[in-house]
Amino acid sequence: MEDKPLDLVLLGPVGAGKGTQARRIAARYGVPHVASGDLLRAHRAQNDDLGQAARAYMDRGALVPDDLVITMIVGRMRRPDASHGVLLDGFPRTLAQARALDKELAAEGRELRLALYLEVPFDILVERAAGRWTCRNCQATYNYRVNPPHKPGICDICGGELYQREDDRVDVVSERIKVYLKDTVPVIDYYRGRGILRVVEGTRDIEAVAADVEMQLEAAVW
Ligand code: AMP
Repeated sequence: MEDKPLDLVLLGPVGAGKGTQARRIAARYGVPHVASGDLLRAHRAQNDDLGQAARAYMDRGALVPDDLVITMIVGRMRRPDASHGVLLDGFPRTLAQARALDKELAAEGRELRLALYLEVPFDILVERAAGRWTCRNCQATYNYRVNPPHKPGICDICGGELYQREDDRVDVVSERIKVYLKDTVPVIDYYRGRGILRVVEGTRDIEAVAADVEMQLEAAVW
């Protein structure tokens, strides 16, 4: 494999299975998995300034303002463990964020290698996201229909407690999907125009999607 940093973006609407695939990719390629939603939830749990500012937006399924999210992600990308690359999940979600990411990478002599888009038809997204349970400890996600935990309410990976995120309620999920169509679909077009977008069909089971994701990544990074 080439020695240049491996900077990747994983795109897809809520309920497309991004988090599940992202954890696998990060483990396989040895780059940190940086999920903007997980970072924001950690700030909320700490109840710091960013957490307090983000709360109201998140609870209604709206995007947290670009300047706050960009500062948070850039700060995370400058940590030593991200110096050989990073897998971004949930960021960028707007064109302004995508441009800020390009700028940050360029300043380090890096560039985005690939944007992987997990495509799932919109009618099944609400159902998927609304049936989702998340681990309080490691943020792994389960779905009681398609990907249940071995023991109800307990995370297979770390034994943590599973809970339903407040913003995974059906009404909030619908709002998040609307926001996605308006703000994030242009990001997909932006990467498509640059020739670095790869589309993976995300409706199949986790293993089939993972195999496809890996094929696309191998083709791009070698
Ligand atoms: P997620 O876990 O990625 O679904 O994110 C949960 C919520 O965090 C979203 O509905 C937004 O309110 C907020 N959020 C996460 N990532 C971003 C981002 N890149 N830009 C703006 N808001 C974000």
